[in-house]
Amino acid sequence: MYYLASKYRKKVTDESTLFINNNYKIKFIPGENFNEKITYFKDIKYSKTYFGIGFDIHKLTKNKKLFLGGVKIPFHSGLEGHSDGDVILHAIIDAILGALRKKDIGTYFPNVKKFQNIRSPKMLKPIIENLKKSNLFINNLDINLICEKPRVSKYRENIINSISKLMILNKRLINLKGKTVEKLGLIGKEKAIACEVIISITQHD
Ligand code: ZN
Repeated sequence: MYYLASKYRKKVTDESTLFINNNYKIKFIPGENFNEKITYFKDIKYSKTYFGIGFDIHKLTKNKKLFLGGVKIPFHSGLEGHSDGDVILHAIIDAILGALRKKDIGTYFPNVKKFQNIRSPKMLKPIIENLKKSNLFINNLDINLICEKPRVSKYRENIINSISKLMILNKRLINLKGKTVEKLGLIGKEKAIACEVIISITQHD
C-alpha cells in the first residue's frame, strides 16, 4: 500500500500519493456510498428491469375451500384445480416467471400426482427463494382479481398481508384491485374467478 509518506517510495498510484511524495499534507473527507469510484469499465454497475404478466382462471366448485392470495376466504365454493386453485398466487408465479423469461407455472408444477392438492404458497416459495439468490428485486406488484364475489375490499388487507409475507415483500409495493364483470358470463354468474398480475423486477449486477 502506498498511502504512507515515504522518501523512498516515489511510485505514484493516485492523487494522494502525488501530494504525499511532495510533502504536502492530505486530509480525509468522509465519502458518500452512492458516489462510487469508476476506474475500469467493470466498475460500472448497471441494473436491468424486466416486466412480467400472469393470468389465471379457475372454475368455482362446491365442497372446496376458497383460497385467494394464500388466505382462506369464507365462500359458498372453492376453486377447482390440481392444486388449491389459488388464482392470485398462480398468476403471481407466472408473472415472475415471465419477467425472468423462465416459461410458465405448468413447466415446474405439471398436473402429476406429486403436486396433487398442493397448497399454492408451497409452489411460490422456491420461486421467491430463487429470486433472492439471483440478486433480483421486485419493484412492485399489481393485481386484478376478477370476480363478482367475494368483495375484494373486505379481504384486501388480509390478502396483501399474506402475499407480503409469502413473497418477503413490503406491502406498500403490492396493489390489489377488485374487478367485477357486471354479472356477465361465467365469472359474473359466480362460476369462476380469474386474476391477472403484472410485476416489475430489477436485476442488479
Ligand atoms: Zn391456476
